[in-house]
Amino acid sequence: MSTTTVTLSDHFARAVPEMAVAWEAEPVAEPRLLVLNEPLAAELGLDVDWLRSAEGLAFLVGTHVPAGARPVAQAYAGHQFGHYSPRLGDGRALLLGELVHADGGLRDLHLKGSGRTTFSRGGDGFAAVGPMLREYVISEAMHALGIPTTRSLAVVATGRPVPRETVLPGAVLARVASSHLRVGSFQYARATDDVDLLRRLADHAIERHYPSHGYLGLFESVLAAQASLVARWTLVGFVHGVMNTDNMTISGETIDYGPCAFLEAFDPATVFSSIDHGARYAFGNQPAIAEWNLARLAEALLPLLADTQEDAIAIAVESLGGFRRSYNAVWTTGMLTKLGLPSDTAPDFIDDLLALLHTHHIDYTLFHHHLTTAARGSLAPVRSLFTDPTAIDAWLTRWQSLAPDPTLMAHANPLYIPRNHRVEEALTAATTGDMTPFHHLLAAVQSPYTERSDLAHYATPAPDTTTPYQTFCGT
Ligand code: AMP
Ligand code: MG
Ligand code: MG
Repeated sequence: MSTTTVTLSDHFARAVPEMAVAWEAEPVAEPRLLVLNEPLAAELGLDVDWLRSAEGLAFLVGTHVPAGARPVAQAYAGHQFGHYSPRLGDGRALLLGELVHADGGLRDLHLKGSGRTTFSRGGDGFAAVGPMLREYVISEAMHALGIPTTRSLAVVATGRPVPRETVLPGAVLARVASSHLRVGSFQYARATDDVDLLRRLADHAIERHYPSHGYLGLFESVLAAQASLVARWTLVGFVHGVMNTDNMTISGETIDYGPCAFLEAFDPATVFSSIDHGARYAFGNQPAIAEWNLARLAEALLPLLADTQEDAIAIAVESLGGFRRSYNAVWTTGMLTKLGLPSDTAPDFIDDLLALLHTHHIDYTLFHHHLTTAARGSLAPVRSLFTDPTAIDAWLTRWQSLAPDPTLMAHANPLYIPRNHRVEEALTAATTGDMTPFHHLLAAVQSPYTERSDLAHYATPAPDTTTPYQTFCGT
């Protein structure tokens, strides 16, 4: 096969060379394609047949570098579980460069699991098949739900054994993002005390994401994008699990699918991550944490916001005050859409529902799905979710009196989310070489509103177990 030309730009490395360390991926002896996102490849102008060729696979693991490309490890800092680390950075990842998407915008092409870098600290630089496929399926589910997210282009098995609690098969994920600029990128630049670097980073972020804004406009745009993002997580029951400042983007895309999961029974205290002992990143805490992270971004940007620190702080505090308003506006509108109700509905009506779902341990996704059916006239499915169906009757009567509109609800209430037990089942099979369950799960969550009788088992909650579901990061 003839070689294909892929043109990767290096805007990030040129804008802030101090934060881009030229680096090479580890050799991969036996790359094997596990999954390729063909529609996304097409949007990026990448030839699918070429990606499947030996040279294409080498490209997807970083060992074939197209002419002119300059892969780099990106520097960033970050607060992890509230504790500041001045030097994190891509410890097992590389930015290959930027591609032009069909929409005209730039996209980062980034590899995860491509080997140690100067930022690896104690880590081995590798990733395992299971966690990379987990990021693939959950990010593609989020995309199908209309929630801003990094995308997954491919997962390639490396054939390399990766020692974790047990020895696992290794993989590289090719990830696509509108950028990998993070709150932690700004913390890193600020900590150098080089205001010129900070300004170049901010100018780069403005050019890429919020053209024609000034520095305060940049901050307020990130704040609005993150308020909207976290509200949309809440609307679908998504728990990110590790909202460290290095895992929060400037673009407002969801990034870094580690110990994330979707709620089944509605409970704001839900935590999935095995290392989140303090429940810092519990479902109901996510808006407060986003606001806390944005305060860290504001601190990093202070030198750009005003001539004196005092003025800059006053400006930042004023802007931060807008977070709650933005979050509440998106969440309230979204909830009313899920319930099929007009925008002037009394807010306590939603609170009453959430209290009922919490008290009776009701599956959040199925409730809303069956409520759409109820809006079309059939109350039985939604009532059947309650051990005592009369528990929801007073609420349903009030809801019906508000004339809910099922057409509003249909595309707000998914049937298929990546349920934890189905994700685990798919990843376990994939780890032993059977990709069939993964592809079925992917088919379900990529069309989350379309009921398919052959995929019915992806719509139901896990059987009751006594062990709470846990997810693990860093694998
Ligand atoms: P994360 O929890 O995935 O956001 O990662 C936090 C930091 O740890 C980042 O700097 C990662 O690059 C780094 N890291 C995570 N896993 C590894 C690994 N296996 N080897 C080297 N660095 C890692
Ligand atoms: Mg991260
Ligand atoms: Mg991670």
